[in-house]
Amino acid sequence: MSSDTMQAEHRGTCLCGAVSVQILASSPTMGACHCKTCRAWSGGPFMSVEYHDVPQIQGMEHVTVYSSSDWAERGFCSRCGTHLFYRLKEGSFYALSVGLFQEGTQWPFDLQVFIDQKPQNYQFANTTRTMTGEEVFNAWS
Ligand SMILES: [Zn+2]
Ligand SMILES: [Zn+2]
Repeated sequence: MSSDTMQAEHRGTCLCGAVSVQILASSPTMGACHCKTCRAWSGGPFMSVEYHDVPQIQGMEHVTVYSSSDWAERGFCSRCGTHLFYRLKEGSFYALSVGLFQEGTQWPFDLQVFIDQKPQNYQFANTTRTMTGEEVFNAWS
């Protein structure tokens, strides 16, 4: 990890408490994904905090991982159904559900991805950066 002394530990838990996650971050931000898969999974855009490392997860025996595409998978608590994370199968990119973290409500909302798949019937008032699905895939490869 970096030597940034401002890095703080952020802990989140699922609804039933069986699973908890921990990340180290200095200034976490929140993003939203409007893709069709996230919306089917979440009931709406998936609001998450990106993490470019492997988070510590307690209660892993309660985590079910679903392969949602050739390149990514999604984890949820098998006791209460809370969505925990989206992660790439290769490397260590995680997008953890922001709702797990109590302090998540204070993190700046600064990015919307798969903006080209956002349905017309809603629109966030926040001013954020946006990326299309194609731009996201280009950034990953
Ligand atoms: Zn749970
Ligand atoms: Zn998505």
